[in-house]
Amino acid sequence: MPGIVVIGGGASGMAAALFAARGGAEVTLLEKNEKLGKKVYITGKGRCNLTNDCDLDTFLSQVPRNPRFLYAALSNFSPRDMMALLESAGCPVTVQRGRRVFPSSEKASDVTRALSSLMLRAGVKVRLNTAVESLETKDGRVCAVRTAAGERIPAGAVILCTGGFSYPSTGSTGDGYRLSAEAGHTVTPPSPVLVGLETAEEWPRALQGLSLRNVTLTLRSGKKVLYTELGEMLFTHFGISGPLVLEASCHLPENLSGASLRIDLKPGLTPEQLDARLLRDFAAGGKKQLQTELASLLPSRLADLFPRLCSLPDTLRCSQVTGEQRRRLAETLKSLPLTVRAPRPVTEAIVTRGGVQVREVDPATMCSRILPNLYFAGELLDVDAHTGGYNLQIAWATGALAGRSAADLQCRDSQQR
Ligand SMILES: Cc1cc2nc3c(=O)[nH]c(=O)nc-3n(C[C@H](O)[C@H](O)[C@H](O)COP(=O)(O)OP(=O)(O)OC[C@H]3O[C@@H](n4cnc5c(N)ncnc54)[C@H](O)[C@@H]3O)c2cc1C
Repeated sequence: MPGIVVIGGGASGMAAALFAARGGAEVTLLEKNEKLGKKVYITGKGRCNLTNDCDLDTFLSQVPRNPRFLYAALSNFSPRDMMALLESAGCPVTVQRGRRVFPSSEKASDVTRALSSLMLRAGVKVRLNTAVESLETKDGRVCAVRTAAGERIPAGAVILCTGGFSYPSTGSTGDGYRLSAEAGHTVTPPSPVLVGLETAEEWPRALQGLSLRNVTLTLRSGKKVLYTELGEMLFTHFGISGPLVLEASCHLPENLSGASLRIDLKPGLTPEQLDARLLRDFAAGGKKQLQTELASLLPSRLADLFPRLCSLPDTLRCSQVTGEQRRRLAETLKSLPLTVRAPRPVTEAIVTRGGVQVREVDPATMCSRILPNLYFAGELLDVDAHTGGYNLQIAWATGALAGRSAADLQCRDSQQR
């Protein structure tokens, strides 16, 4: 009887292959790249924030789309299970700020290396440079996969782990959406989340590369606050990015025309305290250029630009600043406005939103409700989470569940023969 074929050797595919093999099945993992885990390699800036050491309810609160769908997968394979798995393979892990978990070596490649050695021990056959082109079905079941090179590989069950559309250079080129649709599944159109934002204003581009720490970013739609958080952000050639902006992008309303962003550059000071500070500084500053004095409050590149952002002349000296101008400076320091023009494209997003609709997948097994021996795992599914190790944990957990379930199916099928 043909074994289980796992398509895609990323996070979810490695977990699926490992647990299918541990469940007693013969497993072949097909990866189109020349190596496994190309995306894992770049996660967490190469350090791999591999999971979050939190309880189930906290975890699900970080999943804006279809969190209940993940209940069984995360109960079956929790963040602690992932940590223990890596430790068992000689890859110790460390819990850091925000309960984010990293390999203690802070090398993402160690995570892939550990999983590869576990897969080898479990007997998984890994085939690199093997892109799957199509699924072959017969009598309402998948019976084989066809590679781009024209090879037909028979399959008793197939686990689709091909990821989303983000960072296509890592291999996630959206093939799984097409393969799923061809198998009869409905695919919610992919869109970007955890992504930089293009601004209507030009001035952020002049500050490209400058990062702001300890600022508060607030996203509103009309008067409604959709997101507000203290942290770090970055100016780029298109507008803004960095941790706060990526998180804010998860909360963007469909209709961007009413959305506004505000940066509080001095969240530690009340407007009154800030006004008093400016009054004191400007009195002491005398003939000093306004920008020079502002550099005690702001990074110098932003300080240079700041009078213009407040519609004040560049040539103003501290002693010339009127009460009304000082109030305008204080207001802008507390609430610097930005207008979102568009999120950056999905190819630049950390995660792809959308994918195989979860109502067509059994959450207890990750099995298709359309084809009884087709399984799904990872970013291909229509679930996504905030930053903090949650997206990788979703990939490990859905992969582990899909692998175990596919192995159980194989076991039942072979007993029936
Ligand atoms: C820059 C960046 C940083 C990130 N950092 C973090 C982080 O620190 N923590 C976190 O939790 N999440 C992070 N993420 C998100 C996380 O990496 C993904 O959610 C996760 O990798 C998804 O796993 P996956 O297995 O579904 O897909 P992928 O990891 O994308 O794997 C899919 C695999 O399938 C292969 N494939 C595709 N099509 C075919 C085909 N037709 N035939 C054969 N193989 C195919 C691909 O080559 C690829 O190897 C980050 C993402 C990015 C882009």
